[in-house]
Amino acid sequence: MNNSTVSVPWFEKEKRVFKNPLNHHAYIFEGVEGIGKTVFTLEIAKGFLCNSLPGAEACNQCQSCRLFDQFNHPDFYLIKPEEDKKQISINQIRKLQEPLYESSFLGSNKVFIINPLEKMSREASDSFLKNLEEPPENSIFLLISHRYQTLPLTIKSRAIKVNMNKPDNKQIKTWLNLQTDHKSKIETALLLSKGKPFVAAEMVNFEIDDLRLDFIKDISELIKTGNNLLEVSEQWPKDPMTMLLRLEWMSDLLMDCLRHRFLPGQNLTFQDSDTISSYLSQHFESDNFFYLLEKTNSCWNLFNSDTNLRADYQLQSLLVDWIESVGLAR
Ligand SMILES: [Zn+2]
Repeated sequence: MNNSTVSVPWFEKEKRVFKNPLNHHAYIFEGVEGIGKTVFTLEIAKGFLCNSLPGAEACNQCQSCRLFDQFNHPDFYLIKPEEDKKQISINQIRKLQEPLYESSFLGSNKVFIINPLEKMSREASDSFLKNLEEPPENSIFLLISHRYQTLPLTIKSRAIKVNMNKPDNKQIKTWLNLQTDHKSKIETALLLSKGKPFVAAEMVNFEIDDLRLDFIKDISELIKTGNNLLEVSEQWPKDPMTMLLRLEWMSDLLMDCLRHRFLPGQNLTFQDSDTISSYLSQHFESDNFFYLLEKTNSCWNLFNSDTNLRADYQLQSLLVDWIESVGLAR
């Protein structure tokens, strides 16, 4: 087995950074959700725990590597929001204090992954900051963040930032081909997932075509009659991953309306909603589309920032804007 190969091949360059012995104790892996940061960070953790090779390389053969593969490594700690909780609590950070200051079981490093970092409560974050300021020996923090800009500066300044970028479509396609037998769905998933391979993989293996069809059905009904307003505002937010995607599709639809208007003959983002976008472009002013674009994008930001505001209300208010601006029954 080639040890340098990561299962998320687009992060090969980032992996090389961790090949040599490193003398820092904290790293923030930042980038959008759905590109494989967690998978990558787990591989780095395994490497930091392995005794046989320098840096964050894993030999895949020693006791440490075997224990890690069995999810049973005594010096590895994964901290994420507890089930049904939105945040990482102060209690979860308190529980780390003992292992942090004791020596490791296998005599090598202790590795702590926090995923995602921005989910720490204020108290948890304050407490964790002390650990970062006075790092115990042989303790390494691998911190994952989907929203680096929202993190406290005090934490950011004590960790090395590792930028994790979206792979290009060619890389995703090659990888997707290895992940799935549903080859016919790859192109659609590639287009719809917007550079996020793990979202694409989910789509390929599930009913992405159905999701898209449902979306088109919902949005046409909303525009035509508005009768499904309450139903849609209740149903869509139930699945946060596809919720963001649906909002992106709403923006795409508006962009297609504008393309029909200003760049006729140019390729649309989506052919399958062409009937809707061309109709709307002929019947409504561009200002309506620009207005809704702004509203839709800020709603996307709200959902992406995990606000505590009730999701169904946010969505409902956006859909009302849609009905008022481009609805046929208004
Ligand atoms: Zn090993």
